[in-house]
Amino acid sequence: MTYPDVFQGFGVGDAKKWSTPTLVEYAPKPLDSNDVDIEIEYCGICSSDLHTIKGEWGQLRRDDLVVGHEIVGTVVAVGPKVSSLVVGQRVGVGAQNLACLNCNRCQDNNEHYCITKNVSTYNKKFPNHDYFSQGGYASHHRCHEYFAFPIPDEIESKYAAPLLCGGLTVYSPLKRSGCGLNTTIGVIGIGGLGHMAIMLAKAMGAEVYAFSRSSAKKDEAIKMGADHFIATGESENWNQELTDKFDMILNCASYISGITLNSYLSILKVDKFFVNVGLPCAGDVYEFSPFTTISNAAGIKSSKLGSRKEVLELFELCAKHNIKPWIEEIPINGKNLSNALIRLDKGDVRYRFVLTNFKQFFSS
Ligand code: NDP
Ligand code: ZN
Repeated sequence: MTYPDVFQGFGVGDAKKWSTPTLVEYAPKPLDSNDVDIEIEYCGICSSDLHTIKGEWGQLRRDDLVVGHEIVGTVVAVGPKVSSLVVGQRVGVGAQNLACLNCNRCQDNNEHYCITKNVSTYNKKFPNHDYFSQGGYASHHRCHEYFAFPIPDEIESKYAAPLLCGGLTVYSPLKRSGCGLNTTIGVIGIGGLGHMAIMLAKAMGAEVYAFSRSSAKKDEAIKMGADHFIATGESENWNQELTDKFDMILNCASYISGITLNSYLSILKVDKFFVNVGLPCAGDVYEFSPFTTISNAAGIKSSKLGSRKEVLELFELCAKHNIKPWIEEIPINGKNLSNALIRLDKGDVRYRFVLTNFKQFFSS
């Protein structure tokens, strides 16, 4: 497999310069026998990309770090042991590139929690190579075939992209919490993840409450399928009538300063969970007193991504219910990417940016 020898992408080497990624060339990771090469056509912009390049989750491990983990493209080459994909196939890659696929977790459809060989799509070292992973604001991507998912024909590429990280990340805890008929789900933070959570929870049969800091997104959240909308920043007692209401509250917010944890914990049913998928800066912590949940035994947990099994289920669900993320398409180039990152940082996105026009840009 010789093609392609060099990848191009938009990289950041200094967190202070996160808003101006520059065009870089880099060698792909050394080929492993189950790797596929993908020519990228679309890539969503996730807030995790922003946290990473701003240095909010730790140091940048390369001076040409390319982020992006909502990748859709076409397989252009396959390693010698690849058995599940062929050249020409349309695939999507999310936020994970490698797992051991042998341990108890991997064997139990929890490969996203693999301990030994868990490599994220960017900024993580491969265990068998002196190479830090590179993401999807790029011409190509190379990864293990297990983490390149065939996309059903019913889903257009631009709508598939946001499902690969954001969609999967909310689908997994919804599914695992039993979201369905006769359940009530709360979704906090109506951004990229949150808006998909509303649509998915609704399609799964739940009654859905959207929690947002202001009422600015109310009409849109209702159109997405929310049955109720609560502007938490506009009333002190917003939780008063909601005691014993929720089977799960899914926190999709990208920071915690606007989250009053105790208010949310108090409105869960007995033994139910407040689940964080939203991740703030690495050092941020919630204040929590054991008395807070003494009256309902509510729990707090976090959830990361989802499994291959779940992403394939998610595709089926979206195809069946014609679920389409609300996107704004951004033709990829340095200026547009910079503007999109700055707008995402300001919360000026309705509701997911998807980078497009890769072939035109990288082949010109
Ligand atoms: P967006 O920026 O699209 O949406 C985040 C939303 O959070 C905003 O729309 C806003 O909602 C809310 N928010 C922003 N600032 C604050 C604040 N200070 N206090 C309370 N709420 C706030 O981000 P994404 O949807 O792309 O990502 C959301 C989070 O999920 C990020 O932290 C990201 O890193 C994380 N993530 C985690 C994954 C995992 O595996 N667990 C995978 C993917 C992403 P509103 O205006 O409605 O209040
Ligand atoms: Zn993401």
